Amino acid sequence: SMRRMKMATDRGMLIVVSAPAGCGKGTILAEILKDDNFCYSVSATTRQPRPGEVDGVNYHFMTVDEFKNLADNDGMLEYAQFCDNYYGTPRKFVEEKLSEGKDVILEIEVQGAMIVKKNFPEALLVFILPPSINELRRRLHKRGTETEEVIEKRVSKASGEIEMAENYDYTFINGELETAIDDLKAIIRAERCTLKRQKNTIREVLNNA
Ligand code: 5GP
Repeated sequence: SMRRMKMATDRGMLIVVSAPAGCGKGTILAEILKDDNFCYSVSATTRQPRPGEVDGVNYHFMTVDEFKNLADNDGMLEYAQFCDNYYGTPRKFVEEKLSEGKDVILEIEVQGAMIVKKNFPEALLVFILPPSINELRRRLHKRGTETEEVIEKRVSKASGEIEMAENYDYTFINGELETAIDDLKAIIRAERCTLKRQKNTIREVLNNA
């Protein structure tokens, strides 16, 4: 029955998605998240909200004290400093959803991703590449949410981040949006079928002889 199948559900997958700012990962993830087997982990940050950003939806906006307090009490699964601000993944939400069998998406930068890789070796790490550094700059200007200075800071950070893609499991270029969405869906779908994630399924089939 469905109930039995549900009981046999393996733990959810922890999916890390990284990309330099302006790679369009937000647009790709919005599409992936239409499937409600996925949960998006809302990060904590000390940076100021951008126009239109909502507390608790885009980020949990915090003061440095609030952030440090949570981190010091083991409340963060990972955290990192990025462009003068702190960003971190609140632990509780992620662990609850994984144990419910939901796949949880962390949209985090490379330092945090490496912490996740070390502490959760089963996590799936995906890096989204821009077609080029120039294209990245063009997209950031088009988005228009940052000052010229911040844009240049982020662009100059991008090369170092892209070099870190070597440490991820999968990577693809976000050139054509539809293709990129298909790529990410295919990666997740294939990963879900890997044997290490299907131990319960095999047992279930045997038990249902
Ligand atoms: P932004 O300020 O553009 O929203 O995010 C800046 C960078 O911080 C992005 O690369 C984003 O993926 C990353 N980031 C967002 N949340 C987290 C988090 O919880 N942990 C880490 N390590 N990075 C994060």
